[in-house]
Amino acid sequence: MKPASFRYHAPSTVDEAVALLAEVAPQDGRVLAGGQSLVPAMAFRLARPAHLVDINGVGELGRLDVEGRELCIGACVRHEAFHRPVAPGPLGKLLSQVVRHIAHYPIRTRGTFCGSLAHADPASEWCALAVALDATMVARSVRGTRSIPAREFFAGIMTTTLAEDELLTEVRLPLLPDAARCGFYEFSRRAGDFAIAMAVTIHRVVDGGIADARIAVGGAEPSARRIAAAEQALDGRPPELAVFAAAADAAAHDVDPMEDILTSARYRRDLVRTVTRRALEQSLT
Ligand SMILES: Cc1cc2nc3c(=O)[nH]c(=O)nc-3n(C[C@H](O)[C@H](O)[C@H](O)COP(=O)(O)OP(=O)(O)OC[C@H]3O[C@@H](n4cnc5c(N)ncnc54)[C@H](O)[C@@H]3O)c2cc1C
Repeated sequence: MKPASFRYHAPSTVDEAVALLAEVAPQDGRVLAGGQSLVPAMAFRLARPAHLVDINGVGELGRLDVEGRELCIGACVRHEAFHRPVAPGPLGKLLSQVVRHIAHYPIRTRGTFCGSLAHADPASEWCALAVALDATMVARSVRGTRSIPAREFFAGIMTTTLAEDELLTEVRLPLLPDAARCGFYEFSRRAGDFAIAMAVTIHRVVDGGIADARIAVGGAEPSARRIAAAEQALDGRPPELAVFAAAADAAAHDVDPMEDILTSARYRRDLVRTVTRRALEQSLT
């Protein structure tokens, strides 16, 4: 299938891009980043934007660097950039571990980190990671710039709190301390498929007890989210298998899993238990 007709715009600065979005967003204008989700949706005519604002020519959106204690990821940074560590310490390693689960390599050379967050697929690995890390999203429009914490950004299946004329210019991830222990585990039926459930886990061990635990689950509910009950099950306890199993049980108990023709809620809940436990167990290796 071919997409429905649209007008193509190619701004070269962020100012131009947001001015164009202000004009065309009310007439169903959309940002085009890597095109790896939008273009197939247009080809199937599931999306029929009347205008596309292609941000690939906006040089300033290619930024990928560390500023202070944060990694800044511009809107045109591709998934592929994370195959090698782009940040010091555990954050760089975690990003490199996670990126290999996103689609297939050719898709990773075009799709963008920020595009994944703006698209907000429940099974997006970057969305789960952004939630686990309490990332900050930086959005620009003709009205100015605002910062949105990850917990206020995702609003359901493929829905965010970005306004229709806002451009997600950058995502900021806090660097992790050297002592942070991280884990990531996902289950999908075939390599490269969207995951049915995934977990991102981060904690430190202080005086033999777990501190600063973060457990985010993706793929199971309409948006990835941190599971407070599972984090509390780790708090102050020793990093051992029985403790991880109890936290995984708490995560499975807390989620309200989605159901579809292939995957029952019960099966997804069971997967949440398994992916959480396996992600936590990685911190022992
Ligand atoms: C076969 C296949 C398998 C895939 N598997 C996975 C997977 O396992 N895990 C996964 O996470 N993803 C997967 N994807 C999706 C892929 O990661 C996409 O790259 C990603 O979801 C969207 O990024 P993009 O840059 O391609 O965005 P686009 O397709 O260009 O845009 C997607 C949406 O986000 C909006 N948008 C994009 N950037 C911005 C911005 N900066 N500001 C505001 N709005 C913006 C667009 O307007 C559009 O609505 C897969 C895709 C394919 C085709």
